[in-house]
Amino acid sequence: MIRSALLALALLAPAASPAQEAPRADHHMHIQSRLITDQLRAMQAADPAIFDGISVDLFTERSGADAVRELDRAGIDKGVLLSVGYMFGFSAVPMEPAVRAERMRAENRYNVDAALASKGRLVAFVGINPFAPNALGELDYWANQPGASGIKLHLGNSGFDTANAEQVDTLGRFFAAARKARLPLVVHLRGAAPFSGASVNIFIDKILAQAGDLPVQIAHGGGYAGIDQPTLEALDAYGAAIARGAPGTANLVLDISAVMQFDPAKLPDAKTSTETRSYEEMRGLYVAGMRRIGLDRFVLASDWPALAPVAEYFAREREMLPVTDAEWKQLCGNLAPYLRPGWQQP
Ligand SMILES: [Zn+2]
Repeated sequence: MIRSALLALALLAPAASPAQEAPRADHHMHIQSRLITDQLRAMQAADPAIFDGISVDLFTERSGADAVRELDRAGIDKGVLLSVGYMFGFSAVPMEPAVRAERMRAENRYNVDAALASKGRLVAFVGINPFAPNALGELDYWANQPGASGIKLHLGNSGFDTANAEQVDTLGRFFAAARKARLPLVVHLRGAAPFSGASVNIFIDKILAQAGDLPVQIAHGGGYAGIDQPTLEALDAYGAAIARGAPGTANLVLDISAVMQFDPAKLPDAKTSTETRSYEEMRGLYVAGMRRIGLDRFVLASDWPALAPVAEYFAREREMLPVTDAEWKQLCGNLAPYLRPGWQQP
């Protein structure tokens, strides 16, 4: 009975309305091996607040075939898999450095193999903790492997603080190495330390500058999901850097995954926030910032499975993002530079 009910549900699963424009690519998706599922549970035990507001789907294994099925349901051609291999560098979960390195490699292999098996539907970014002892070794390894299209950094998970000069230095060297290896970067900056426009400017001047013309994608619209005052400050800081042609911004884009669909009251900083504006008002302010900067600098992304299945995520995104039909169409057509035909890896 239950089995046949589930089967019927699977057959009747609704696809996105064909009348709605679909994105050409989902720029931010996550699959995960069995190995990382145990790590996520250990991380949740160490710091439960990390997963506030996140779908329980994050605690199940997912394959490249699952990701392609999500894209098909949503009418999307390409998906960018961001390996969460960096999570094995999470310092609050104790582990021998050699074991961290070995598991980081295995999780990255899982993502790269999924991309290689996808007949061009998926591209894979490997996940690295840039402060771990194996960081540059991992970068070098993937620079020479088919199917590795770039590197994902989750600097919140990796404990980055722009006030830590030694970390700023290390990260700058990592960006320079990625540029040399022609491995584009996706960067989640916020989460481990106090965050403001000033900290974003340190990141832009000292670290992003090392990327040169390398494609760099800033995740979550410059923040870490939702919108608060620091997110708007970050957006303005990136906009100002782009406007003055700052080093590192030639091929810079921001993905807006989870920006319009994550209740800011659930953000870690919400407890200390004095924000009085509504989420609706903040979404309007964010879009005003997007228009000032230019919509060509923004790409659509779901952060699947964090909030919803891909088709449902983008149907809701169209409702939550206060843009015109023409602007939505433009955003759907936008591709990050590393997905454009002209971009060549060595
Ligand atoms: Zn993500």
